Amino acid sequence: MADHAFVTLATNDSYVKGALVLGSSLRKHHTTKKLAVLITPQVSDSMRKVLDKVYDDVREVDVLDSEDTAHLALMERPELGVTLTKLHCWALTEYTKCVFMDADTMVVSNVDELFEREELSAAPDPGWPDCFNSGVFVYQPSTETYNQLLQLATEKGSFDGGDQGLLNSFFNTWSTKDIHKHLPFIYNLSSISIYSYLPAFKAFGANAKVVHFLGKVKPWNYTYDSKTQTVKGDGHDQTLIHPEFLNLWWDIYTSRILSLLTEHGVVKEASYGLKALSGLVCSLAFSCRFCREEEVTEAVSQMSLAAAAPPPPPPSLSSEERRERWEQGQVDYMGEDSYENIKKKLDTYLQ
Ligand code: UDP
Ligand code: MN
Repeated sequence: MADHAFVTLATNDSYVKGALVLGSSLRKHHTTKKLAVLITPQVSDSMRKVLDKVYDDVREVDVLDSEDTAHLALMERPELGVTLTKLHCWALTEYTKCVFMDADTMVVSNVDELFEREELSAAPDPGWPDCFNSGVFVYQPSTETYNQLLQLATEKGSFDGGDQGLLNSFFNTWSTKDIHKHLPFIYNLSSISIYSYLPAFKAFGANAKVVHFLGKVKPWNYTYDSKTQTVKGDGHDQTLIHPEFLNLWWDIYTSRILSLLTEHGVVKEASYGLKALSGLVCSLAFSCRFCREEEVTEAVSQMSLAAAAPPPPPPSLSSEERRERWEQGQVDYMGEDSYENIKKKLDTYLQ
């Protein structure tokens, strides 16, 4: 239906990556609903153009320039900035019903049936199941509700400093009044639950419909090797995100988003995957024998092997000598030619 929409929020280009994967995952599973994304002024022009390719409705919201209530609320409680931005979803009154989804969620099947539910339907929070998790919820846009939420934010604040505390205080009969407003957990499956109740995940995880990459480390913080189709950690604890879902996120990102980003000149980072990295090393740094993909993979596996070995004595070679050695395949993975240094070098070229 034209007046039903999935809605998400991205206040910066990193979260836009999440929003793009979320939107693509909804399209991949043939949603019949509109896709809307709320963005703030920090989002770059090129990322907006890419969002236009995936979303029907790309809407800039600016809490400071918006209606008076929002302006006042933010003046008094500046820390509620991102929270109040999320509340803007209630102002989308051209839709009669919406499903809000965090930009760090992804659907693994069609979830249009969520629109059969009423406001406010959500799944329990894994940390405190008497509260709902605000990463996925069904709601009804309304200026009145929007203003009431802003008023509550200004007067009482949020018990967790974020939107989830505020929304749970506002919709405070959620846990007791109507079981139909409890969405099954498979509509908001977070990795944290996988590790805290593994047998349940083994029994029911295959029915997952929405995956939520809740927590500090997001899928876009990882590096992906498109050849092996696996994710490489960035030093954070890799077990925080279930590898199967993480690889799925990256699969959508590389197969459906990366080409859009290239088209709009957004791909400037060295961290868009090792395949991309190899091309950049060759064209920007040296003309080397690692141009071919297989050899890059080999080099990468050597890199990780080298990481486990004790570091060799630091070489003091001239740039010319280093280049010669590189071309002969003698790469100082632990020193001058470490992944970190290559990345730094690329970053300076790309700036
Ligand atoms: N968000 C955003 N920019 C930020 C932080 C959050 O756009 O700097 C949006 C985004 O849609 C995100 C949601 O707010 O998914 C909630 O934040 P997050 O998912 O990081 O919280 P968590 O689910 O990990 O508690
Ligand atoms: Mn989230």
